[in-house]
Amino acid sequence: MDRTPEQVWKECLDIIRDNISRQSFKTWFAPLKPIKLEQDQQSLKLIIEVPSRFYYEWLEEHYFSLLRKTITKVLGSQGRLQYDIVIEKDHLSQKANDTGHLQIPAHPLSSPSQQTSLPFADPRLNPSNQAPRNESPSYQTPMRYAQAPSANVIPLHPAGKAPPASPFVIPGIKKVEVDSQLNPAYTFERFIEGDCNRLALSAGRAIAERPGETSFNPFLVYGGVGLGKTHLIQAIGNYARQNRKIDSILYVSSERFTTEFVQSIQHNRVSEFSLFYRQIDLLIVDDVQFFGRKEKTQEEFFHIFNALHQTGKQIILCADRPPKDIEGIEERLLSRFTWGLTADVQPPDLETRIAILQRKAEDEGLHIAPDVIEFIAHNITSNIRELEGALIRLLAHSAYRKEEIDLAFSKEILKDLVKETKLNLSIEEIQRIVCQYYSIPDDLVRGKTRKQEVVQARQVAMYFSKQYTKHSLKTIGLHFGGRDHSTVIHALQSIETYLEMDMRFQDTLAAIRHKIELQSH
Ligand code: ADP
Ligand code: MG
Repeated sequence: MDRTPEQVWKECLDIIRDNISRQSFKTWFAPLKPIKLEQDQQSLKLIIEVPSRFYYEWLEEHYFSLLRKTITKVLGSQGRLQYDIVIEKDHLSQKANDTGHLQIPAHPLSSPSQQTSLPFADPRLNPSNQAPRNESPSYQTPMRYAQAPSANVIPLHPAGKAPPASPFVIPGIKKVEVDSQLNPAYTFERFIEGDCNRLALSAGRAIAERPGETSFNPFLVYGGVGLGKTHLIQAIGNYARQNRKIDSILYVSSERFTTEFVQSIQHNRVSEFSLFYRQIDLLIVDDVQFFGRKEKTQEEFFHIFNALHQTGKQIILCADRPPKDIEGIEERLLSRFTWGLTADVQPPDLETRIAILQRKAEDEGLHIAPDVIEFIAHNITSNIRELEGALIRLLAHSAYRKEEIDLAFSKEILKDLVKETKLNLSIEEIQRIVCQYYSIPDDLVRGKTRKQEVVQARQVAMYFSKQYTKHSLKTIGLHFGGRDHSTVIHALQSIETYLEMDMRFQDTLAAIRHKIELQSH
């Protein structure tokens, strides 16, 4: 065998990347690791490590056909894929092996002879069942395993099935009516889908259909302010309530949870507090980063979380940053936050911003000219709350001045919100800023050096020259030591590829962009 698992996997990733969105690629494929390539008489098997059982289920549910085609293309018809699932320690039962891994062959690629070695009696592995599956996203996968018990089943997902009686639920206690605290305006219908939120939204819909029954439990949405986290997590609650999926739903901000908890201590009513939360079927907690450094509250929440999770109740959380960056939260709680699915929401792209503005205008019963919508969408880019703010400001001013909202009017009213986007920088200035960042002399990017660091600085400087100046590829090439335009194109492509593959590079690029924007004013 002459290829390494890494080479094989890289080839697979190259194919996969071309077939799915960048967000999906980053979320589902970047975290996978090739481990081994095994040749036997019947098959050539690539083993990849997946971070959790949930990944495995999602991959099988959504990318089965793509994976099958890819593996066949790269490894030939003998190609097989096997998942090596890393199991969280907390989820392991007594019976689990010590390695914390569980191997499952990918369904469509596994040979029937592998059945006996399977840890699960998986009905899909019936040899007659080799035809490609219908790929409609039914979200049935997660429970399949729970329904197929065998001697070695590791109860990874105890949710839902024969839950142990919670010690806190007093038999016969009557459920009190819970006011959900949901804002009825936050619905799925009013939530515009874009690349920026697609994953979070599709998982949100699945949860709303079957709260507590998917393996997206907990579901944690994170992202910057004004990107729709609160809207989305409440939409799940509103849908579940309207469609009577469950009885008690509660939306609470982490601040309110904290305040109520502190009050319950003061009034000696902690056990009531505790009991109240344990009877919720769908608990939505907003802005969990505020639990940081509140140890007692965290401890209480930790126990409530466990009680709910163990009895198959759905938990939905959101935070303004990725869980690993939330400070002052105990490790055991942080680790639970990521047990299910963690999905981010990103700033919306231009098309999504336009769609949101059109929709908001429609909701207000207004017709706003397309050039005005585009003007706002082009100039207000950071978040959706600001987009809404701009629209409301236009409405208010036009009502007050009894003027129509046209482009000139909008430019005048929004002038302080709209940043000058053309930066008036020269290519040399961009080179200087980039080289300063990499701590190298500027003339190196114009020279011939192929040292890796210089090559990267050169490509980054070309990339920003294209973005921030009006020069043609040819002129940009000339400013980089007389290179031709195809070198510049190659640089732009390389940067796009790094951006997709390497999260740290995204940060680097954002930091440089920030410096360029600062120096241009
Ligand atoms: P966050 O909780 O992330 O700070 P919010 O959920 O409060 O953001 O969203 C800010 C505003 O933007 C809300 O009025 C919300 O309705 C609106 N909004 C956010 N995302 C979308 C979207 N995808 N479609 C429509 N409106 C959105
Ligand atoms: Mg919010």
